[in-house]
Amino acid sequence: MNRAAADTAAVERDAPVESLPWYRPVGNEPELFEHAYRERLPLLLKGPTGCGKTRLVEHMAARLGRPLISVACHDETSAVDLVGRYLIGANGGTFWQDGPVARAVREGAILYLDEFAEARSDVVVVIHPLSDHRRRLYIERTDEEIEAAEGFMLVASYNPGYQRGLKDLKPSTKQRFLSIAFDYPTREVEIEILRGETGIAEPDAKRLAALGARLRALDTIALAEAPSTRLLVSAARLITAGMAPRAACQAAIVEALTDDREIAAGLRDVVALAF
Ligand code: ADP
Repeated sequence: MNRAAADTAAVERDAPVESLPWYRPVGNEPELFEHAYRERLPLLLKGPTGCGKTRLVEHMAARLGRPLISVACHDETSAVDLVGRYLIGANGGTFWQDGPVARAVREGAILYLDEFAEARSDVVVVIHPLSDHRRRLYIERTDEEIEAAEGFMLVASYNPGYQRGLKDLKPSTKQRFLSIAFDYPTREVEIEILRGETGIAEPDAKRLAALGARLRALDTIALAEAPSTRLLVSAARLITAGMAPRAACQAAIVEALTDDREIAAGLRDVVALAF
């Protein structure tokens, strides 16, 4: 983050630790995260992409002093990928290699399964005994059962955008987690995030946040997904680096939102209203 921005009164820092990834709380999510950690309850972060879920996890892992193991799940992610597999060594023999879940369970790390709903259904079977009071991982191939080390926490994220072809989570799985719903931040909070992340001047941060709000209010049929805070941060970075605001918004926002030339022209007009 930009140090100059951190010095301004508008930007809050949570702790004086230099290496702590900066997170601007939107509600009580850091507090809830900490309670979940202390009570050994798994946590589900729901919400659209680019709205701070990963940053919250990075921030809290550092704040709680736990190692963080993150897995970006996709539709090919299987239980084997997560738990581990036998590999063939240089001498032709086989050896066992822990996957990220097994490592997190042994180390007492915070395990973050990003886009958990996208993974194959056998992943859920592995996660179930870890998500309740048992806190155990059974490794079928080695016939080993590991009890999660002190400090282990399971966090998953999920984008409830199944209308757009994303997978949904089963209700029985959702009910195993405490849940926090994320959404796009209010304009004031988004301005703080843009300033805190990039050090962008306040008038430009205000214009970008207003642009984000306008674009989010557009008819959602034209856009697969509304512009995230991540896109606004990217535009702010380009502007801070000296790029003309319209060109920055074209590259960071317009082209990221659509491939359709007509819709892109419409979005450019909205950008021109802001800058
Ligand atoms: P996702 O919800 O997809 O996990 P991220 O946490 O990666 O999104 O957020 C994308 C980017 O947006 C971050 O890298 C950061 O720059 C910015 N961001 C979003 N929300 C916040 C926040 N509350 N505090 C600080 N930065 C944020």
